Amino acid sequence: MRVMIVGAGLAGLTCAKVLNEKNVDVSVFEASDGVGGRVRTDERGGFLLDRGFQVYFTAYPAARRHLDHERLDLRRFDPGAVVHRGRKRDVLSDPVRDPGSAISGLLSDAATFGDKTKTLSRSVAAGEEAAGSVGGVGEERTSTFDHLRATGFSDGIVENFFRPFYGGIFLDRSLGTSSRVFRFTFSMMAKGETTVPAKGIGEIPKQLAAHLPYGSIHLETPVEELLRDGGRVVGVKANGGEHEADAVIIATEAPAAAKLAGAKVPEGAVGEVCVYYEMSGAGDGGKIGLGADDGSFFNNAQEMSAVSDEYAPSGRKLMSAVALDAFDFSDEEIYRKGIAELSDWHPNADFRPLAIYRIPYCQFAQPPGVHETLPENRTKTPGLLLAGEYTEDSSINGSMLSGEKAAMRG
Ligand SMILES: Cc1cc2nc3c(=O)[nH]c(=O)nc-3n(C[C@H](O)[C@H](O)[C@H](O)COP(=O)(O)OP(=O)(O)OC[C@H]3O[C@@H](n4cnc5c(N)ncnc54)[C@H](O)[C@@H]3O)c2cc1C
Repeated sequence: MRVMIVGAGLAGLTCAKVLNEKNVDVSVFEASDGVGGRVRTDERGGFLLDRGFQVYFTAYPAARRHLDHERLDLRRFDPGAVVHRGRKRDVLSDPVRDPGSAISGLLSDAATFGDKTKTLSRSVAAGEEAAGSVGGVGEERTSTFDHLRATGFSDGIVENFFRPFYGGIFLDRSLGTSSRVFRFTFSMMAKGETTVPAKGIGEIPKQLAAHLPYGSIHLETPVEELLRDGGRVVGVKANGGEHEADAVIIATEAPAAAKLAGAKVPEGAVGEVCVYYEMSGAGDGGKIGLGADDGSFFNNAQEMSAVSDEYAPSGRKLMSAVALDAFDFSDEEIYRKGIAELSDWHPNADFRPLAIYRIPYCQFAQPPGVHETLPENRTKTPGLLLAGEYTEDSSINGSMLSGEKAAMRG
């Protein structure tokens, strides 16, 4: 049996790993110059620059089945957050796992915050057995905002904590993302650690790729079209050549899957501009900094070298900051606006511009109800299967689960 996978992102690599374990002859065709798709890390002057701010939850169930956490040398973020409003700074210790400790000056109703968070934890835990993925969380058609209000959280807590914190996870400050995604990520944070591999997020796909036989991944080889025989898909056309296979699995991002296979995929996307600075002076350490003001330029910022010192050359510091609404600005404007804001957040620190990543397509948009409309891994066309986050949910776990399922169903 010979299978061709289009795309060497986490979905394609996980799919290839599982098929290889089943002794299937597998080839992966990747358009770009490296493995990982949206999960890659660049090295520049001794700094490790993830292509966008990304975190790995150690509790991710599908990811745990395929990744060796020890060898990834995972480094954990400090729990909680530092909430910034201009020069005002409030520290939340661990609102998710230890709600009672989350006392902070900005929560005028701090006493009820703990109780409501416990209520939320209990209700998330009640659906936990099924929640191996976003799809496993019971059917709900509400937004995160409505879910938080229904749980009884006050305006102050939603605005000062949930909006910037989950705005950074969903890349959407409106909190219009499905409450299923919120409940799943909340349970992941409660059950495990929030981490990155010591040498960058790109270590995750590299570890998956290392399971595959030498020569089975073809980089810089975009698949141009599918080969068909009657109603059946029988291979791919890439680099002008025809490559025959018993089955083809499309593990690209959603728009490319629609173009190649005519798959009906979710529409819309959320994106970010990720800005890197070398920093000197004191920041928020291993805790994430959140921009809680309505007009905040950065939604969140993290001193990556405080999480893993391998992100910066010895004795130096790397700051990663995320703007959700900055695509229209020039690089110079982005750096300047960013430094003005970070200097308010950290008056005793200096910032030197390093790099900007503009990533318009980070995740497909996940409004309430979207997960019930996603395509199946099996298609009606013999010889054609789909993998990729757009068949599951938009996350490291969702993409890996999609690859695993496609391999099991092939
Ligand atoms: C900035 C950012 C932040 C994120 N934050 C988080 C986070 O904190 N936690 C989390 O869990 N998830 C996060 N995500 C989401 C997560 O990274 C994605 O859901 C996941 O990586 C998607 O993997 P995939 O394999 O489905 O798709 P992709 O990674 O997009 O892989 C698809 C691959 O297909 C290739 N391809 C496309 N067309 C062709 C073709 N014609 N021929 C050959 N190859 C082709 C592409 O080059 C690409 O390598 C984030 C994503 C981004 C970008």
